[in-house]
Amino acid sequence: MANDYLQTPIEFLKGVGPQRVKVLQREFNIFTFSDLLYYFPFRHVDKATIYKVSDIQTEGNYMQFRGDITGYQILGEGRSKRIAAQFTDGTGTIELVWFSTSKWIEDMLAKWHHNVLIFGRPTLFNHRWSMSHPEIIDPNAEQRGNTITQHFFPLYNTSDKAKKAGLDTKGMAKLTAALLLDLRQRMIPETLSSEIIENHHLLSLKEALFQIHYPENQDLLTRATIRLKFEELFYTQLKLLKLKLLTERKLRGHIFARVGESFNYFYHHCLKFELTGAQKRVIKEIRADMGSGRQMNRLLQGDVGSGKTITALLVMLIANDNGFQSCLMAPTEILAQQHYENIARQLSGMDVKVALLTGSTKTADRKAIHEGLMDGSIRILIGTHALIENDVQFQNLGLAVIDEQHRFGVEQRAKLWKKNTTPPHILVMTATPIPRTLAMTVYGDLDVSVIDELPKGRKPIITKHLYEQDRNKMFYFLRQQVDAGRQVFVVYPLIQESEKMDLLDLQAGFEAMSRAFPLPRYAVGMVHGKMKNEVKDFEMQRFSRGETCILVSTTVIEVGIDIPNATVMVIENAERFGLSQLHQLRGRVGRGGEQSYCILMSGHKLSSDGKQRLDAMVATTDGFEIANFDLKLRGPGDLQGTQQSGVLDFKIADLVKDEKLVGYTRDLAKAVLEKDPNLSSPENQTLAINLQKLMKREKFWGLIS
Ligand code: ADP
Ligand code: MG
Repeated sequence: MANDYLQTPIEFLKGVGPQRVKVLQREFNIFTFSDLLYYFPFRHVDKATIYKVSDIQTEGNYMQFRGDITGYQILGEGRSKRIAAQFTDGTGTIELVWFSTSKWIEDMLAKWHHNVLIFGRPTLFNHRWSMSHPEIIDPNAEQRGNTITQHFFPLYNTSDKAKKAGLDTKGMAKLTAALLLDLRQRMIPETLSSEIIENHHLLSLKEALFQIHYPENQDLLTRATIRLKFEELFYTQLKLLKLKLLTERKLRGHIFARVGESFNYFYHHCLKFELTGAQKRVIKEIRADMGSGRQMNRLLQGDVGSGKTITALLVMLIANDNGFQSCLMAPTEILAQQHYENIARQLSGMDVKVALLTGSTKTADRKAIHEGLMDGSIRILIGTHALIENDVQFQNLGLAVIDEQHRFGVEQRAKLWKKNTTPPHILVMTATPIPRTLAMTVYGDLDVSVIDELPKGRKPIITKHLYEQDRNKMFYFLRQQVDAGRQVFVVYPLIQESEKMDLLDLQAGFEAMSRAFPLPRYAVGMVHGKMKNEVKDFEMQRFSRGETCILVSTTVIEVGIDIPNATVMVIENAERFGLSQLHQLRGRVGRGGEQSYCILMSGHKLSSDGKQRLDAMVATTDGFEIANFDLKLRGPGDLQGTQQSGVLDFKIADLVKDEKLVGYTRDLAKAVLEKDPNLSSPENQTLAINLQKLMKREKFWGLIS
């Protein structure tokens, strides 16, 4: 029943009246004793050290001083009424200020003036040090020892509303102190098995909860932090892996047992290059998965240009060899078209029929495609989301590949599942490199394959950040490249709010380019999202065939487009793009054997974030490094594709900083489940109970991919 004690409603805690109950619930989601215990401080202040006033160098740090209060006055009138007291320790003075008057402050100042401890944040005011609302510690209290040891004082995040109810960081500290005092003699049930605690030298939960709020020393604070992070990450992984186990058991899949004629023929006669080691490895992983009898749910990550498409094609041929159709869904019309042309060209010598289905497919063609899918003559269908419409029925769909998955909504993907009585294998491809730690957590119940190697002979793209004043230099450079027969992308940002202005920018950019690169010697093209599809496609085709040397565009070209002769990517107003978008855009060049360049144009005024993003782009071309950097800059909640997951609200763990611990706890969770999948053995009792609690409020990521 000790367990229930932690579930006691927070209003039963000393010091929590009806008003505070509301504030605690609304502002911090604290409903029970347990919730308060898990409301961790974000930092601690070292109160073991006593500083000298002459030590103060900068504002903003919490510091403690010992000295005398030499006098105080009440100043101002009405709202600006305040109390100001003078404090000195012989090395300097600090003015102590309270912006409200109250009897107890005056009483205190009247009572204590010699040898007091003051604690707070010194700030500069009129060139003098002052401290507002300092804590003053009764010089006699230290001997009395009636509180929890407070060498390290906890600081809690609070809010304005909470502060009004007296729940500033000090107010919160009082509550946690009261609760912990109460819990001292009670039992706090352990949440990890004793085996895990012993093997990993972890603090007990009770010890950790005490030390995280009021640590006795730095070492114990560290150990408490590790124990609580460990617990949080371990259960996250245990939950995800358990869900995966459940899916695997539930979902039978088509068995692709053999690699047959079409794969082999293609591999030996049509493939124009040697696959990279990473591509080969990934194909093996996928083959093993599709042959296992379980439905595959796999995420294929690979940086832009790493060759995901050919990998997907080979896998689709395996499906074909086993008598199944496959489909490849791309997020945009242009991209679907390009995939189609590429794949149709590569398969032209073979008897594998490919079709393209998009929103703009004509009704008559559509009908023929529907028939070809039903009678099985079409083996591979490529398209946009048009291919998940209900009237698109397959004879026997065995594999669905989704390119650039973050562009698709969850419901759209779910529709693919229903295209066959046994759901098809699903391969989701993304070039948004999700850092491993995040992938493990967000897609923890999907399997992940990574192409972590670029095709041989690629030269790293050279990236430069230029300011407006260097524009002529940029033009000069473009001319050299164009005269050498290369092609250039120039990209402008387009954001919804000021769309009109952006389009004007784009138009102006196009005109400037056209003047600098005049007909008939040169030809400049333009595409943007507002154009009719036919016009857009026409422009894309012209560029793709090399009839235009420069393509001025918005980010419609961001995803997937493959034009190996393009060697320069100019990004205008680069500071307005997010990091992963910049990286995607840069990935449009550097696809052939020639040296490629990315030029980031910006004005002089840059936010520090903007500057950091551009610096990161210049510093590295590695998509995973970029993604990690992005994660640090923005936090995981903002990364593409992670928003819906809801698994990222960690209380204490940090996917970036605790990368090692994520991997470690995942391995441990795996080992535990391998030995005891149902957690039914006595030593896993604790784990089973806690996991069950977590599973109750769970979303099922694997089922919706
Ligand atoms: P992404 O992973 O960005 O989708 P693509 O599949 O578009 O990359 O491949 C980029 C380019 O690299 C294409 O022109 C493709 O033909 C080529 N490519 C793919 N794999 C290899 C390889 N192993 N060797 C040489 N070129 C390759
Ligand atoms: Mg691609």
